[in-house]
Amino acid sequence: MRRTPGAARVSGVFDLHVHAAPDVWARRGDDAQIVRWYAEAGFTGCVLKGHYDATAGRAHAVAAGSGLAVYGGQVLNQHAGGINPAAVAAALDMGARVIWMPTADAHTQAAAGLPRLCCQHTDLADTTYAIPPVDWSVVAEVGQILRLIAEADAVLATGHLSTAEVTWLLPAARRAGVSRLLMTHPSYTVPAMSPAEAAELAQQGAYAEVTAYQLLHQPDCDAARLARFVAEVGYPRIVLSSDAGQPENPTPPEALARLIDALAAEGLDRSALLACASDIPERLVVPK
Ligand SMILES: [Zn+2]
Repeated sequence: MRRTPGAARVSGVFDLHVHAAPDVWARRGDDAQIVRWYAEAGFTGCVLKGHYDATAGRAHAVAAGSGLAVYGGQVLNQHAGGINPAAVAAALDMGARVIWMPTADAHTQAAAGLPRLCCQHTDLADTTYAIPPVDWSVVAEVGQILRLIAEADAVLATGHLSTAEVTWLLPAARRAGVSRLLMTHPSYTVPAMSPAEAAELAQQGAYAEVTAYQLLHQPDCDAARLARFVAEVGYPRIVLSSDAGQPENPTPPEALARLIDALAAEGLDRSALLACASDIPERLVVPK
């Protein structure tokens, strides 16, 4: 069997963030192909993320017989009604392990001019979503969502919410009993959180994600900048994931291997980086 280049060096890795076909945007491989690449590379599992699809059912189907732990979740974009407790309840009842706050339909995404479903279907409303302190009208719905996530002991991920919203959300989530908290690529273009802000929020019990996608595509981003972010937040609160699956990118296991290599080349500790891509994300996602 042909092995994915570079992947042998990162066996035991769990990729918490990958995009697979079918999707509203072109992807490098479908669920089965992506999971095969991980299996060839010796990964232990992954979380399938669809900006516009609930992925728990897909994860369940593709995991069968794969030998990998594959999980799904729900992103609270327009297709799901935005900040919608019913979408969260249904996803969690079907085994979703990660609930992401709005990503492609977050107000930050529109402001940054990044892709959204309504850009390719111009007859759709260009509705964006926000939570307090940007939009207080959904405070009850956010509270209900947090209680549902706490009951399911699932992961709350901050999506593309702004730093102000993440700063409001994380303590609210803890008060509601959510213990699994993930800041979605905080140093990416959205929300463009500073390392100091991320470090402070991480000290409140959240993990901060750094992705291969940032290394490969984020304007003004390079390995040195990501390494400084990791160093300031501290290895125990960092999750390294690929956020890959785009057709122009290497395969997801290869992309994540490249991120680890690039950070190690900046002088970071390779075994600590490997823990950020294996034990830490796996512990965050896998149910007790
Ligand atoms: Zn993503």
